[in-house]
Amino acid sequence: MDFELSEEHKMFQEAIRNFAEKEIAPLVEEAEKTATFPIQLFPKMGKLGYLCVRYPAKYGGAGIGKMGDCISVEAVAYHSVGISAGIMVQGGIATSAVYTRGSEDQKQKYLVPAIKGEKIAAFGLTEPNAGSDAAAIETTATKKNGKYILNGTKIFITNGNICDFVLAAAYTDKSKGSRGGVSLFIVDKGIQGFNRSKLHKFCARSGETGELSFEDCAVPEENLIGEEGKGFPYLMESLTGGRISHASRSLGLSRAAYDASLKYAQERVQFGQPIAKFQANAFKLARMAMEIEAARWLIYYAAWLYDQNKPHVKEAAMAKLFASEVATHVTIEAMQIHGGYGLTEESVVQRYFRDSRMSTITEGTSEIQQLVISREIGIR
Ligand SMILES: Cc1cc2nc3c(=O)[nH]c(=O)nc-3n(C[C@H](O)[C@H](O)[C@H](O)COP(=O)(O)OP(=O)(O)OC[C@H]3O[C@@H](n4cnc5c(N)ncnc54)[C@H](O)[C@@H]3O)c2cc1C
Repeated sequence: MDFELSEEHKMFQEAIRNFAEKEIAPLVEEAEKTATFPIQLFPKMGKLGYLCVRYPAKYGGAGIGKMGDCISVEAVAYHSVGISAGIMVQGGIATSAVYTRGSEDQKQKYLVPAIKGEKIAAFGLTEPNAGSDAAAIETTATKKNGKYILNGTKIFITNGNICDFVLAAAYTDKSKGSRGGVSLFIVDKGIQGFNRSKLHKFCARSGETGELSFEDCAVPEENLIGEEGKGFPYLMESLTGGRISHASRSLGLSRAAYDASLKYAQERVQFGQPIAKFQANAFKLARMAMEIEAARWLIYYAAWLYDQNKPHVKEAAMAKLFASEVATHVTIEAMQIHGGYGLTEESVVQRYFRDSRMSTITEGTSEIQQLVISREIGIR
């Protein structure tokens, strides 16, 4: 067993943390205020090779696997959950199936520009009537004259309103059910009938979330990912890997809330001493530190399994569930430690608290993670 990051991962961690500190942190306040993703980060990070680090060098990635991806997501989320959401989707669920199941042409046309930050990617599964129950999607794709005609609506799509392409799930044959009837398509933003609008959230405001609609949207046949009817398993593969990255986002957020709280508790004086010296606060901080450490090791273990091509469904769900609940607890405790100051708009911890609300909902709620884990331990 090795409890240390590899030299390559250590070097990357230092580089991406420095980058996030220097290039991302200064953009956060404005991005949060205007609820706008700083779009210049895509080409900037792409040029440096920081955007989609897990993909192999032959496509422009850094080839440092899911572990590299986790390190990157955590470093960005430390400064902004909203920004990390956009970056994480780009290197994760929005491009994953293009890499694993796409043709070489699709990789050159979509994956390579996404890695370079020249194209923004989104992942379109959720619909107004299909959230946790992904098989209930109503979007259809009907084959006609060498094209698939898409009709339907997607909601809560990260990067949706700013994307250049979206990986969209649709039924090609409803009679076959989700396991044989769902297909996955790459839909370009310029195609007639593909409309996008922005959704406004109270949390992760520096990340973009959109609603998409397809109205007789004619998608070229060559934009089908893999085989027709196999889309659902492809989606599940992408989502399982995505949970590990999502957990890293919660980890970055928790670490930020913990660091701010430790600093504040050591500086704030009441009753003639720093409030950190009161056992009530010291124990809170001790528990926060422990939970963060435990989350980190669950994530690293799941990432290691992923990178070794070993089964990781249970571990990915455990990492996601645990890390998001840690983020919930740690950010609540951070608010308590900051007292009244934590409640002011200027306080960073209120943002952490708001942003933590996303952790237990997106990419599979905590209840769905428990469902996955319970199935994996044999309860069916
Ligand atoms: C900011 C944001 C970004 C997002 N980004 C994307 C994206 O990029 N792409 C995308 O496709 N989707 C995205 N989503 C959608 C997200 O994945 C869904 O919101 C999530 O899966 C939950 O679906 P829902 O909101 O419809 O809730 P519902 O499924 O309606 O669930 C409501 C509640 O019921 C519970 N529940 C539902 N079914 C069960 C069950 N079987 N057992 C126990 N409890 C259950 C849930 O846990 C939850 O507490 C995003 C959402 C948000 C808010």
